[in-house]
Amino acid sequence: VIASNGRAHRKIDGRLMQQANRAMVLNLIRRDPSLSRASIARETELSPATISGIVDHLLDEGLVREEAAIVTGNVGRRPVRLLFNPSARVALGIAIDLREVTAALVDLGGTVSETMRAAVPVDSDPATVVDLVAKVSRRALKRVSPDLVLGVGVAVPGVVHWPDGVNLFSPNFGWRNVPIRAMIEQRLGLPVRAENEARAVALAEYEFGAARGMRTAVFIDVGSGVGGAVIIGGALYRGEHGAAAEIGHNTVEPGGPLCGCGNRGCLEVFTSATGISARADDALAAGRQSVLASTLPHPVSVEQIMIAAASGDALACELFDRAAAYLGLAVANAVDNWDPDLVVLSGSVIRLGGRLFDEIRVFEQRFVLKTGTGSVGVARSMLGADAKLAGAASLVISEYLTTPLAAS
Ligand SMILES: [Zn+2]
Repeated sequence: VIASNGRAHRKIDGRLMQQANRAMVLNLIRRDPSLSRASIARETELSPATISGIVDHLLDEGLVREEAAIVTGNVGRRPVRLLFNPSARVALGIAIDLREVTAALVDLGGTVSETMRAAVPVDSDPATVVDLVAKVSRRALKRVSPDLVLGVGVAVPGVVHWPDGVNLFSPNFGWRNVPIRAMIEQRLGLPVRAENEARAVALAEYEFGAARGMRTAVFIDVGSGVGGAVIIGGALYRGEHGAAAEIGHNTVEPGGPLCGCGNRGCLEVFTSATGISARADDALAAGRQSVLASTLPHPVSVEQIMIAAASGDALACELFDRAAAYLGLAVANAVDNWDPDLVVLSGSVIRLGGRLFDEIRVFEQRFVLKTGTGSVGVARSMLGADAKLAGAASLVISEYLTTPLAAS
């Protein structure tokens, strides 16, 4: 009995080893397009026969292709380079927002295509939102062969419990304990991963964008709300209850304006798109003079406030100066707390442009602890408006790339 248990264990260990080696070889090829079979064998210290077996398997699966051999005359043949094929598989990415749901196909290189959208009516309940999600998802899935689809990733605002995908609390929607993963899984009949939207964006920037190749990075997403995420040593840090790095709900002014979370004076109420609009409305209602007073309809949008700031309107300038100061403070605190390689800023407010990003950096430099080891980089998202869809899909893609073809 002991002997047969030993054999069973060796068999399982062997299979795990094979998966780990496949993942290692695939990721080497993905990161460096100059590699050949021989150079991979040298780098990994695996035998040439083992490497050939793995590469043949990856070629069969379409994940890798060989560069056409080039005849270089009398200097002999250059080793054939192996190239990652990002279009070999796709995941469906879904982004759930207060006003809109989107679904798109995302390939293994993070390229987003076939984006389908539907508007979300005000005060929609979870079932209505999931109906819309199913509709846009089916439209996107029709555009690809079903055997190429790895699964579905969902990015949703609020605190999401991992891995069961229950949206514990979404201040924006007013939801509590919505089993969003199970609801979408049931409708689409595909495996689903669901995660907080800021964490999904962080994963996309880590896999495909501004934080590629970093080990530790902090992400602050400034959109209709403010989300945060941290990747430590190459892995998302979720905390014990899925609520780590809720930077948007750090208190910056005790007793300040009421936040959707029920507290007062959170970062979000001064810096998110909805927060900046609401603060403009408060000031106008209190009788502040501004070109925004004649802007209809109310509440004024953050885009209109940005335009007013560019033309020198004092109220609009004050609102953005305060947002820049508090975001600069948030970045400085993030650097002091996590000692990252990089802080990445994303979201619709950052994409508004103007002087906001540069001012955030000025305030960050003013507040951050000077350790004498040089300053930590602060970068804009490289993925722009597609970051959330790419991020949702990368919940599935990054899992696949660490255990490619585990079943075979
Ligand atoms: Zn809050």
